[in-house]
Amino acid sequence: MGFIRDWRRRAWLRRYPISNQSWGSTIARTPLLQMLPAADRVRLRQLATVFIQEKTWVSAAELTLTEEMQLRIAALAALPILGLDLDWYLGWDTVIVYPGEFVHPRKEVDEGGLVHQWNEVRSGESWEHGPVIFSWADVVASGRVDGYNVVIHEFAHKLDMLNGPPDGFPPLHGGMSVRRWTGDFTTAFEALNACLDEGREPPVDEYAAQDPAEFFAVLSEYFFELPHYLREVWPAIYADLCAFYRQDPLSWPGFKA
Ligand SMILES: [Zn+2]
Repeated sequence: MGFIRDWRRRAWLRRYPISNQSWGSTIARTPLLQMLPAADRVRLRQLATVFIQEKTWVSAAELTLTEEMQLRIAALAALPILGLDLDWYLGWDTVIVYPGEFVHPRKEVDEGGLVHQWNEVRSGESWEHGPVIFSWADVVASGRVDGYNVVIHEFAHKLDMLNGPPDGFPPLHGGMSVRRWTGDFTTAFEALNACLDEGREPPVDEYAAQDPAEFFAVLSEYFFELPHYLREVWPAIYADLCAFYRQDPLSWPGFKA
């Protein structure tokens, strides 16, 4: 299977290359991608090219999906797997794009059997074995090197869900210590929650305190967008994420400058 997949990916690279102009304008519009070394951008472009072909793209709410949109999403999606591989995004098929935030109807039955229904507004969503969904407006707001990145956030959930429901514990590589990962993340997650309980200013977006899965996804945004800051706040988490993503954003020319 791996052989056929590799062959198909090479064929896609030949058959559906991204034009220099389209790629150039994606990089120009996405400051985060300008931080990378040139060699990494070459690999990013290959991963993005194959990712676009490998997934099914669906637009929602009358959005007209353009090549520019696909490219920006694919380029940012390729960033977390730059040190890994596209196989980390197997097991699901569809990318859905809304023009802006979308409503997710929720329903829960409580212990007394009472049905509660409400609507949640979302900028992105990732389903286990299912689609990943984006608000285009939020994709545009991602990659500005300010800590917000809905694409990295949702794809961090995808990586987290490779070994079951999202819990902030993605499949670690051989040689990585499960005990260290769990210990570091638990300590930082509890520190964030204590900070909020005591009414102090949280060091990261308080959405991260929701649960361990959101904590991992939000900290992945910081890891790529504000690496200096994350290393300063939680050096152990920064090191764990370097080991997991097999990348060190602080070594990129843009962040060294
Ligand atoms: Zn999330």
